Amino acid sequence: MNTNQPDVRLVGIILACSFAAYYFEQILILLVIIIAILMWHYYQIYAIHRLLYQSDKKPLILFYGLFAEIYLRINQYYLYWKHYRHSRRRIYSRFQQSFKYFPNPVLLLDKQWQVKWYNPISKKILANETQYHGQSLLTLIPHPVLTEYLREKNFSKPVVIELPHKQQIIIELQFVSLINDETLLIISDITDKTNLSRSQKDFITNVSHELKTPLTVLMGFAEPMLSEIGQFDPQWQYAIKTIHQQTQKMQQLIDELLVLSRLESQDAVEKIELQSIDMKLLIEQAVDDAKLIAANTGHQIEVDIDEQLTLHANPVLIRLLVDNLLRNAIKHTPESCHIWIYWDKCGSALCFIVKDNGEGIAPRHLSRLTERFYRVDSSRNRNNGGTGLGLSIVKHALKHCNGEFEIQSEVGRGSEFICRFNLLDN
Ligand code: ADP
Repeated sequence: MNTNQPDVRLVGIILACSFAAYYFEQILILLVIIIAILMWHYYQIYAIHRLLYQSDKKPLILFYGLFAEIYLRINQYYLYWKHYRHSRRRIYSRFQQSFKYFPNPVLLLDKQWQVKWYNPISKKILANETQYHGQSLLTLIPHPVLTEYLREKNFSKPVVIELPHKQQIIIELQFVSLINDETLLIISDITDKTNLSRSQKDFITNVSHELKTPLTVLMGFAEPMLSEIGQFDPQWQYAIKTIHQQTQKMQQLIDELLVLSRLESQDAVEKIELQSIDMKLLIEQAVDDAKLIAANTGHQIEVDIDEQLTLHANPVLIRLLVDNLLRNAIKHTPESCHIWIYWDKCGSALCFIVKDNGEGIAPRHLSRLTERFYRVDSSRNRNNGGTGLGLSIVKHALKHCNGEFEIQSEVGRGSEFICRFNLLDN
């Protein structure tokens, strides 16, 4: 019987009874039969209800008609759910086994950031509590940066914090969203790595400071000698010029290293003030300065500025990045190349772009250009007096102004350096 069809037998019985009751003039019989049918239906509904709430029990009766169809469906869902629950349990226990002896602390969190599971090593990192299960992550690691990070829910990059209850331990937290609103948290202790990189940076800063004074003294001697160069023998003239040139180069390197270390220090982050900047004025001043250099090299500089667009950022840092990008465009492109400067809207952001039609940069270098001292090793670059710190400074300056840096380049066609500022921040 096709159980999707209305119960034909039932309709047949009712019709036959009605006909018999009418024929024998016995309405009472019809009433009794209808009540019996209703009770039978009610009993089937009760049996279905019992199945729904105690699905592991056997059905009370053999269902007919539509009820058989409903029972069949319920049974199918129940079997599917049982299988799903079983396989979930298996996956969950496999997951626990795999992460139990994982060298890093691993926590499984629910959507309220409460701990559902943790591996034993996690206790070393988490605040001392008698019970971890069901505790909020923010109780176990109370830190304002973590609170803000969880509020924003942008887990594309890990968050780094210093453990509040265990001084001088620096941890990195990587959140991985799982199905069912669960989140896997993997914690790494990066104290040693951070301290090493900090001491390397401190070393560079200290050396730079120490070198600054002797270099100023050298420069103090080299400059007057250079202005009186005609009084010296030709072999001394060459030596004086070289000393002056190399001292200047070292001074530039030291200055850039000090700028970079200031930008990287936490103090700088706290001291940087943001204000509304007249970008037209700032860019025009930078371009005027750059044109003095470009006059000797024959570079053509074109400027396209939307005057209405002001920027909320730090003017000293913005000038620093504009100068660096402009200088690079002149320094790293052949003579007489074209340079275009744009300040405009780009989608939902504001963009400062420096574009050139120079030799371009091969794709393998692009991701490394903002590393300290990274230079594309072409013979042209080696002789142009660069330090390899310019783009690193640009990247850090942008970070302090809530901007993002992007480099696009094609060998033989030129390069484009894009500083993107989110409109929401302005
Ligand atoms: P540098 O002091 O050498 O200019 P940067 O960090 O500013 O250091 O730049 C890193 C490298 O990127 C440069 O050495 C150069 O090879 C490459 N570069 C930067 N700007 C350009 C450009 N406009 N065109 C081609 N190469 C560039």
